Amino acid sequence: MHSNSRETIIPILYLQFHDSVRITGGKLQHIMQRSIRTIEKIAQTVNTAPDLSTALNKLVLAIHDALGVDVCSIYLDDKSRKRYTLMATFGLNPDSVGQVYLNYGEGLVSLVGERSEAINIENAPRHPRFKYIPGISEEPFQSFVGVPVIQLGDLLAVLVVQQVSPRKFDDQDIAFLTTLAALIAGNIAFARARGEIDSLITNIQHSGGLYQGIAGAPGLCIGTGVVVYAQTDIASVPDRAAEDIGREEQRFRAAIEDVVEELRLMEKQMLASLPEADRLLFDAYSLIARDQELINITVQKIQAGNWAPGALRETIQWYAQQFESMDDTYISERANDIRDIGRRILGNLQKRENVNERDGYPDKTILIGENLSPLDLAMVPQDKLAGLVSGHGSGYSHLAILAHALNIPAVTGFTSPLPLSRLDGKQLVVDGYNGHIHVSPNPTELREYREMLEGEQKLAEQLRSLRDKPATTTDGLRMHLYTNSGLLSGFTMAQDVGSEGVGLYRTELPFMNKDNFPSEDEQYHIYRTVLEAYAPLPVTLRTLDIGGDKVLPYFPIKEPNPFLGWRGIRISLDHPEIFLTQVRAMLRAGEGLDNLKILLPMVTGVDEVDRARKLIQRAYDEVREEECKVAFPEIGAMIEVPSSIYQIPAISKRVDFISIGSNDLVQYLLAIDRNNELVAKLFDPLHPSVLEALSQIAVAARKTGTALSICGEAAGDPAVAIMLIALQFDSLSLSAGDLPRIKWVIRSFSCAEAQTLWRKARRMEHPAPIRAMLHEELEKHGLGSLLGPWR
Ligand code: PEP
Ligand code: MG
Repeated sequence: MHSNSRETIIPILYLQFHDSVRITGGKLQHIMQRSIRTIEKIAQTVNTAPDLSTALNKLVLAIHDALGVDVCSIYLDDKSRKRYTLMATFGLNPDSVGQVYLNYGEGLVSLVGERSEAINIENAPRHPRFKYIPGISEEPFQSFVGVPVIQLGDLLAVLVVQQVSPRKFDDQDIAFLTTLAALIAGNIAFARARGEIDSLITNIQHSGGLYQGIAGAPGLCIGTGVVVYAQTDIASVPDRAAEDIGREEQRFRAAIEDVVEELRLMEKQMLASLPEADRLLFDAYSLIARDQELINITVQKIQAGNWAPGALRETIQWYAQQFESMDDTYISERANDIRDIGRRILGNLQKRENVNERDGYPDKTILIGENLSPLDLAMVPQDKLAGLVSGHGSGYSHLAILAHALNIPAVTGFTSPLPLSRLDGKQLVVDGYNGHIHVSPNPTELREYREMLEGEQKLAEQLRSLRDKPATTTDGLRMHLYTNSGLLSGFTMAQDVGSEGVGLYRTELPFMNKDNFPSEDEQYHIYRTVLEAYAPLPVTLRTLDIGGDKVLPYFPIKEPNPFLGWRGIRISLDHPEIFLTQVRAMLRAGEGLDNLKILLPMVTGVDEVDRARKLIQRAYDEVREEECKVAFPEIGAMIEVPSSIYQIPAISKRVDFISIGSNDLVQYLLAIDRNNELVAKLFDPLHPSVLEALSQIAVAARKTGTALSICGEAAGDPAVAIMLIALQFDSLSLSAGDLPRIKWVIRSFSCAEAQTLWRKARRMEHPAPIRAMLHEELEKHGLGSLLGPWR
């Protein structure tokens, strides 16, 4: 009941907050609130527009109204034709839209683009860069302000306002326009990624929907979209055909009754603690939930064929938008109440029937979600899972790692929101090489994709034939290839790819999908199963690496910077009871098999290694006293924090092997959040600084004779693999899906060739040419198909 009471108090608090702003707010506050409201309103209008053209038209009109300017226009940057095309205007001749353009280098619009900053000119016709375009009714305008529209460093358009009389626009005006330019940037980028812009400019009807994200895991697949959504997120509920319209209507009506009853009970419980005036809120909520129009509209949508949750989403969104478009702040804020009620009805619909559950999954299921988690995958039978699409996440998030392991294509991190409600049940192509999805391709496009798929299948066969061959370079350098495992139970993670053991077993999962820390025996059984399955091949069990993005539901850690906080070995050392239990379970699981190795995550210095070793020794002594016959395991340290690079000689003295966690090492070295799609394009293991770090680690490890491995995703990148050959890594631990590809690379290059390329790469200062050179070499060696079918 506690959470219920909190949720209902929040609206009360903000009612009071808004009342107090109205009464006590000074002039400045009032003005600020007005401009924020105006921006919010414009953003709302733009974001709910059905297409880009409408969005742009609404934007220019709204700016005209807000600033009282004579003209507001938008010129889109048409990169292929090297010009700026007028795409929307209020004030110029409407017939010139799509017809009028300025070539790069021409006019003030180009000047804004070149400088990528706002330009404010009082007397535009006198400016040397002014270009007169006949026929657009531009002649009388004196003042000009142009603001660039930029998304993630990429110029997309130029927003222009003009005025007949000379007018010096002030800083507030420029700030206002700059804010709106940033707001519209996402919509334009999104439309461009879908090919909508090209069709707008050329006036050709675009047939399919192309959405650009980030390459999560390589591969290509054609399948059917299945949207999973958070139970509390009404906006992401997909449309789905109702299987039984009568039943859908009936469960919707029942969910309404449930909500009304819930509200009544809540009000009763709050009787003592809330003043009567505040309790009226429950009545207001109840009135909304029972509102006949809301019910009728939803029922109509169900009768038109949508299932109850989809119909509810449509109605709630429509209502919320009506409120949001009101000028009065107080009224427009009521949109939140509508959404709150919507979530409650949805929750009850879900209680009555698990709406995420389906009778059966399509044979080629493409799982889609706003923020898919590895656990979402457990719903789908493995033989039906063909591809993954997640609105958020980067190529190095755990979802992407899992996709690599399962050898299924994945696209993550879309910079603009995915239209989730329109993807369920649709035919989709997932291109995990280039990081895009294609929704409902036309027959010609589909034929092309099918041809590419044939190429992919040939590649898979070729890779299968390498299964029992050693990973040896053409001049005899033998590298051991292990697999990473442990991210998801229920899936056969190490597929039959010729793995020589497990180089990284992530032990977090058994801790994550439980209500409390697993007992020693529970852990023992899990570890024993893995060690037995691989014996006599080695299995490296990593000690608990929670914190950062891996949180345990029953052990919440609240901190402002989780990746720089209480993570990995730090937690284990602060909780020796948890660490000792885990190590004891590992040691006992290794009895009689002697293939256990233990790996320590997030090591930042020798002190942690010393303390961890002492605890491992203590656990070892204990299990030996209990008659467990296990040899003392090899201990390894992960090198994934920059500080540890400079302590390799000291760390090496204390461990038997080191293993580079490149996912975190790159994250910490380049200061790039591995899960953040906004900076994902900068996350590159071929960055010269990363190569330098790898080289320092390899040289130091060789000096001390310590076995050197890498277990991050970078090792599965064919271009990076060439560099690892050059540095003569003893072993690589890879996602199962990547192992055959990397074996092919190793067997196709000589170490001497790789070292020549390494020397060339070291002379380069940027990641892009290094990658280009290595891709060219892969092509020359006949391995181009590893880079995807579009080269
Ligand atoms: C790494 O950081 O590279 C690694 C292997 O560990 P994880 O991805 O589990 O953080
Ligand atoms: Mg790590």
